[in-house]
Amino acid sequence: MYYLDLIEIKRLTKDLLPRARDHQVDERLRGWNWFDSPIRPYSNELLLPVWDIACSICPTRRDAWIRHKILRRSVPTTVHQAKGFIVHKLISSMFLKAKKLVYLGYNELRDELIRNAEESIKKEISEMKKNIDISDKDVDDLTDFCKQIARWQATRIESKVLEIKAKYPFLNEESLVQLSFPIATEIVVDGSLLGLSKYLRADAAWMLGGIIFDVKLGRKEEWHRLQVAGYALAFESIFERPVDIGCTIYVSKAGSNIRIDRDFYIISDYLRSSFLEKRDELQMMLLKDEEPDIASNCPKFCVFRSFCLK
Ligand code: SF4
Repeated sequence: MYYLDLIEIKRLTKDLLPRARDHQVDERLRGWNWFDSPIRPYSNELLLPVWDIACSICPTRRDAWIRHKILRRSVPTTVHQAKGFIVHKLISSMFLKAKKLVYLGYNELRDELIRNAEESIKKEISEMKKNIDISDKDVDDLTDFCKQIARWQATRIESKVLEIKAKYPFLNEESLVQLSFPIATEIVVDGSLLGLSKYLRADAAWMLGGIIFDVKLGRKEEWHRLQVAGYALAFESIFERPVDIGCTIYVSKAGSNIRIDRDFYIISDYLRSSFLEKRDELQMMLLKDEEPDIASNCPKFCVFRSFCLK
């Protein structure tokens, strides 16, 4: 999922990174300026998850209000989002398991990774069914799709480890892990300086810094980049190092195969300020404690329809 191909490496090194260096982000929009406007949050009392701020499924943001004021837990607004959470977990759990296997001295990882992934898919889907209404057909489709992803990813991981081992046959486990997995997955960062959750979890980041990855299902949506901008700001507020590049990885079905598209972009001033604007608006709305109106054009896939449109 996170191994780049030759074209992507060329684009990154010859185009995106030089452009990011030439057109530096406005210093006021770096996360390390969290004590000053416009990074300073409207309130430090209400800490919000990044995805809750970035995603705009409900036109009046009533979905966020239902989560915070009624349910008081982090429930996705659509079945599609819930499926996305499962795919996220699957991918990061496979990287974690692969690292453990390398440390334990396993030579062949693929079969063990697939076996482990299939157990975790079953567990995650049964958890999801407790929170959200999902048809049996959707469950079967999701299970098949996750298994496809697991097989593909297990093969990629094993081949990467074997490639590194063939190049450096005498590496110890620590070096083998570092070279085979140049990304850290499920990175937890405290976003409270920015009015964000204390327990933000980005899907992955380049070990040497500067790039954040986020996995999404299906088609591109504008808010996906905003979500990565939110993580970048939080990283900068804690680590005081610039995060200039985002990458949203789109995973979808293509007949009997899976398709992976990686969208690389600069985390620009525009993305940063749009995220901050949405953060302030949502904090203000929730702190005022006014119930938002029911939208006039509710998307048909919103899981809160039974709540709002009784
Ligand atoms: S049902 Fe409509 S008003 Fe309610 S949260 Fe969903 S989109 Fe918003």
